[in-house]
Amino acid sequence: MYTCGPTVYDYPHIGHGRKYIMDDILRRVLEQIEGYEVNHVQNVTDVGHLVSDADEGEDKLEKGAKKSGKSVWDVARFFESEFQKDMDTLNILKPTTVCRATDHIPEQIALVQKLVAKGYAYDTPEAVYFDVYTFHDYTKLFGQKLEEKLVKSRDEVREGNYKKHPADFAVWFKRIGRFENHTMHWDSPWGDGFPGWHIECSAMSIKYLGETIDIHTGGIDHLATHHPNEIAQSEAATGKQFVKFWIHHAFLMIDGAKMSKSKDNFYRISDVENKGFSPMDLRYFYLTAHYRKTLNFTWGALEGSRYARQKLINEITVLENQLKTEKRTALSNEKLQKVNAFSSQIKAHLCDDLKIPQALATFWDALKSNIPSADKLDLIYDFDTIFGLRLREDTGKQFQKISDIPDSVKLLVSEREKLRAEKRWDESDVIRLKIESLGYLIEDTKTGSNLILNSKKSLK
Ligand code: AMP
Ligand code: ZN
Repeated sequence: MYTCGPTVYDYPHIGHGRKYIMDDILRRVLEQIEGYEVNHVQNVTDVGHLVSDADEGEDKLEKGAKKSGKSVWDVARFFESEFQKDMDTLNILKPTTVCRATDHIPEQIALVQKLVAKGYAYDTPEAVYFDVYTFHDYTKLFGQKLEEKLVKSRDEVREGNYKKHPADFAVWFKRIGRFENHTMHWDSPWGDGFPGWHIECSAMSIKYLGETIDIHTGGIDHLATHHPNEIAQSEAATGKQFVKFWIHHAFLMIDGAKMSKSKDNFYRISDVENKGFSPMDLRYFYLTAHYRKTLNFTWGALEGSRYARQKLINEITVLENQLKTEKRTALSNEKLQKVNAFSSQIKAHLCDDLKIPQALATFWDALKSNIPSADKLDLIYDFDTIFGLRLREDTGKQFQKISDIPDSVKLLVSEREKLRAEKRWDESDVIRLKIESLGYLIEDTKTGSNLILNSKKSLK
């Protein structure tokens, strides 16, 4: 499995968290349910690539270096380590191999040489370009016609002075013209220069995983340009199918908008922690949506996930306590079937294109069912090796009890109870909002009693 890794010129954000957690769950499912041994390779784009997926713009790493006043090498190493720290915080398994583009320049040069020798790439005074018309199936992944690519997405293609065709893309840039002062550069058969962005993934994927790989993942933004380019380079060079299964992850949006620093809606994992959430609350939040669906982040939605995860932890505490007094007894046939049915259903959802929200729903059904405590606990611990919510580690930690809740909030709760008893829903809703604005959540249970858990008061 090959995963397109980060471009290390800035801090990772919670959008990256979503993408890499989905890869992580995929890997855990393959390993723990399907029984595969997963060789997981992830690159680090430390060579910088131009600001757009096409060949235009300023180099991202150089931009980062200018901003911070450090060398491009320092910037890359610093943000690579920040990325790894955040991935660890989110309980994401480390890939089997993490490979940097800058450590694989000879492999990239060799691949470009092969493409030139086979007539798929051509040398020009400014760059070596891949000739998209020589590759029969260039647009097969995205289904876009080359003509459409030209007309509809002009931003994506740039009329390089020496390009045969505007959609041709650079596999090697020369250190001349607008790249005269490019900081990272290497000797090559085409003179001093640096690799085009797409070539690193083809070169490292082939090196570590062979010419045909089973799974390749990346964000949805890679569907139109980066991945078609990877396929073209790899298949042109090897004559073999590059990837059997492509996985494209949808984006995380913030309050319905794309995350961006200028909109002040750019959040890092540490921002989430600083508001008092556990990174595992964020992980739970990511599990609430299918990876091919856009997920909208709001602080309220994160609060809901925190609440759900705390409920799980509370449940574990109750079950663990019960088991101190109850003995584990042999299961009746009927109960055994029920436990197995829940377990198979959860697995079936996960193995069906990673239907994680459905798997979580069945998981909750199992916890609400009448299967014995010991089996519930086994189920929680078993599936948490896939969900990765660190439930066992966090059990026993002190969460706020009802008795710790201020009198003013308790008063509002009882007032609301009265209104609910009188079916005065609108008024009771107003009070619920008031309670929430004070930083508390209310759960209406079947018996009508309310359970309150503390939430952070610093929410936006
Ligand atoms: P980058 O560091 O920009 O090269 O991105 C690394 C990976 O994260 C790519 O596969 C992107 O598609 C993905 N990514 C970037 N932003 C988001 C986002 N907001 N939501 C989900 N994935 C993202
Ligand atoms: Zn890639």
